[in-house]
Amino acid sequence: IEFLRELPKAELHAHLNGSIPIPLLQKIANEADFSSSAISSDAVKAGIEQLKTGVVFNELHDFFGLFPAIYALTATPETLAEAARAVLAQFLEPDPVSPKGQPMAAYLELRSTPRTTPNMSRKQYLEAVLDEVERYPVERAALIVSLDRRMDAKTAEEIVSLAIKLRQEGRRVVGVDLCGDPLAGNMDNFEQYFKRVKEAGLGVTLHIAETSENTHEDTLKLLSFSPDRLGHATFLDTDARDVVFSNNACVEICLSSNLLCKTVSILEEHHIRHYLEANHPIAVCTDDTLPFRNNLLGEYALLLAKEPLGLGLTREEVERIARMSMASRFASPVSKTAQ
Ligand code: IMP
Repeated sequence: IEFLRELPKAELHAHLNGSIPIPLLQKIANEADFSSSAISSDAVKAGIEQLKTGVVFNELHDFFGLFPAIYALTATPETLAEAARAVLAQFLEPDPVSPKGQPMAAYLELRSTPRTTPNMSRKQYLEAVLDEVERYPVERAALIVSLDRRMDAKTAEEIVSLAIKLRQEGRRVVGVDLCGDPLAGNMDNFEQYFKRVKEAGLGVTLHIAETSENTHEDTLKLLSFSPDRLGHATFLDTDARDVVFSNNACVEICLSSNLLCKTVSILEEHHIRHYLEANHPIAVCTDDTLPFRNNLLGEYALLLAKEPLGLGLTREEVERIARMSMASRFASPVSKTAQ
């Protein structure tokens, strides 16, 4: 495990509201005033209890039901900032159980979907998160702004414009993501927004082919946006895989997430093997440490552990994967606030 701790690793696929430590959510829930929230304190407390005892996901859709309760707790700039600070610390501060105090990750690209709430606008949302990200040096942390597949055109337009403007102002926005319910939305509607994102020089990462029900058309449409990186890419057919191999887009691999959401049944059948065989760039990531109760070190331990518990890779192979994660970071702007 010391070998894994020493490896410089980049966490490139971590959702803010899916990575908040449970004790912090509990603290916020105990202090929260739910009068302006659509969700009652009882519903939130039940949601936290469920997270504490461990959630059983029978299918990927079960997973999306977790977020309303979490969102009720990160609905003010103060609680959102507190959550962002805790997530950044979880990845970037010295790991308390590590003898030499190495952090989980050398570098973190945190992602989040800006929301409007009774207490903040989308701009305030992004600024609150960026203020926390920018407490770290530029070589350690950056923000990816997420669009949700369920979004209407007006919202997607507003978020893309905000992401580009913030980047132009020197804030640490490095890319735009597409996430959310993998079967929702019509991807034709997003084409123009990702075109703008690319023209502005921001990185593009897309959740793609996450379930067996994602259609060939949906996947090929998303690939036509020329993404720099792909989230999951679990169910690519041969045509789509050929496109991915020829474009060399890095695939963000989330082993525990796939197993717990049951999009992959056993590690032996995990699609990471196709990418390793093809010498294709990948980055091993956590996705959502809150429901999956994982961490980046644990994900790397799965690579090294002998089969059937892990993938049984050699140290050299694991070192190469860590190097690929570092090489797949989106470039950061020179930030005024970089330390
Ligand atoms: P947020 O963007 O910081 O609010 O993080 C939570 C959101 O990330 C969820 O509401 C989902 O839309 C998205 N998300 C988290 N994990 C996944 C995933 O595995 N697939 C697709 N979307 C995801």
